[in-house]
Amino acid sequence: MRAQPEASHFIDGAYVEDDAGKAFESVYAATGAVIAKLHSATPAIIEKAMASAVRAQREWASWLPAERARVLRRAADIIRARNEALSELETLDTGKAIQETLVADASSGADSLEWFSAQAASLSGESVPLGDDAFAYTVRAPLGVCVGIGAWNYPTQIACWKAAPALAAGNAMVFKPSEMTPLCALKLAEIFIEAGAPKGLFNVVQGFGDVGAALSTHKDTAKVSLTGSVPTGAKVYAAAASGMRHVTMELGGKSPLIVFEDADLEDAIGGAMLGNFYSTGQICSNGTRVFVQKSILEKFLSRLAERTAAIRLGDPLDPETHLGPLISQGQRDKVMSYIEKGKAERARLVIGGGIPAGDGFEKGAYIEPTVFADVTDDMTIAREEIFGPVMSVLAFETEDEVIERANGTEFGLAAGLFTKDIARAHRVAGKLAAGICWINTYNLTPVEIPFGGVKHSGFGRENGKAAIEFYSQLKTVHVALGRVDAPY
Ligand code: NAD
Repeated sequence: MRAQPEASHFIDGAYVEDDAGKAFESVYAATGAVIAKLHSATPAIIEKAMASAVRAQREWASWLPAERARVLRRAADIIRARNEALSELETLDTGKAIQETLVADASSGADSLEWFSAQAASLSGESVPLGDDAFAYTVRAPLGVCVGIGAWNYPTQIACWKAAPALAAGNAMVFKPSEMTPLCALKLAEIFIEAGAPKGLFNVVQGFGDVGAALSTHKDTAKVSLTGSVPTGAKVYAAAASGMRHVTMELGGKSPLIVFEDADLEDAIGGAMLGNFYSTGQICSNGTRVFVQKSILEKFLSRLAERTAAIRLGDPLDPETHLGPLISQGQRDKVMSYIEKGKAERARLVIGGGIPAGDGFEKGAYIEPTVFADVTDDMTIAREEIFGPVMSVLAFETEDEVIERANGTEFGLAAGLFTKDIARAHRVAGKLAAGICWINTYNLTPVEIPFGGVKHSGFGRENGKAAIEFYSQLKTVHVALGRVDAPY
């Protein structure tokens, strides 16, 4: 098998198997071939992973911050040196085009480890003067063992974006990848050991939702960081609350992208395409509701159709391929059912909408990049997260109207707008209910800036200095310099 790991889990510095766990297969979405066979974690595996993480965290927290920083930095360097092999594995794990994975996955993971290594070395508290008789200081303390639970669209990036701030702040992590993409996080676990991390600092256990649930409620879990759908987020948030555990919830979205009539049309179309078709549309922050001002609507649509027609679907390992398949046949069925709903609810199909025919496509979960126009706010395709390459274009007339409509959703992950009017750009960005808002671009997530959602799209932030706050807790120390003034 093409990508078979040594064993299913990586715990305490070594690969571990427990055949008693439920068997499952890793399938390459482009061909349907089984590329690895694994086992879900048993309770014994979960206990082993948690116990080793508890031990490693105690040791790690006692290290000098600069020593911890060096480990993260070395891990970043190893990832960069192996980018090609890691990108190929990412492509096998997800079906995403190698053209993307070479620049967006392991490399983004390396960026986050490098950036958080600098944070690890410079963590500090504040000193608070309290007059002649006292002062106080604060210490940023680790939480303990953090559990990371991943989605299937960015297996390497998600593991790194969670591990980097967690480890920088002095925590250990037990990571459960999505059952659809079990392979990449194992490589990260190997790399941490090579970089000099204590055994057990980053353990990987495989499994389905039941394993995630067991980890989320384990007595030694201090925090749960989930990337997943809103329904899963609600379950995990509630389970974590039962033990007053900290959480970060990176959940789904139905984000608006607004194109005003004065926008640079080519840039706006490029932004809309990247924000709907990149990673075959499987990105949480995608701008899947594209609001276009009426005066430029038909011009926008005809050029969008022209550029969409030039997208190359195909073998994900071919560097010329733009889009690979979806993650699975099941996901393709789901996306196709939304396309059918779009047609039934009388949206206008501009391009795509089908399964590509011909050689190479018959076994993979391929789907054409699709654009619907004349979409209205009440249509199913404008309300629900599809998680596939399906763009809905909605017409609008005024700024106030589009802000109201853009915000008319329970989601609030991201938003974007294209305009040349600088005052309008900031005015509208200020009013959009979203965790991140892009002006004249879309979906850029450099690790230096916080990323995360509002409303049902989540809680907490990944990346940027803000992430450290979600992986640490403040301890205040009050120091008296005078006598204790007791009235009795
Ligand atoms: P999912 O919610 O089905 O699964 C996510 C993870 O949670 C998986 O590892 C799964 O095994 C686990 N899980 C399922 N039930 C659980 C439970 N009860 N307790 C603990 N863990 C459980 O999501 P998915 O289909 O893998 O990914 C797609 C979703 O993820 C989309 O909604 C997408 O928007 C979202 N997503 C969000 C971000 C973000 O940063 N906001 C990024 C990527 C994906």
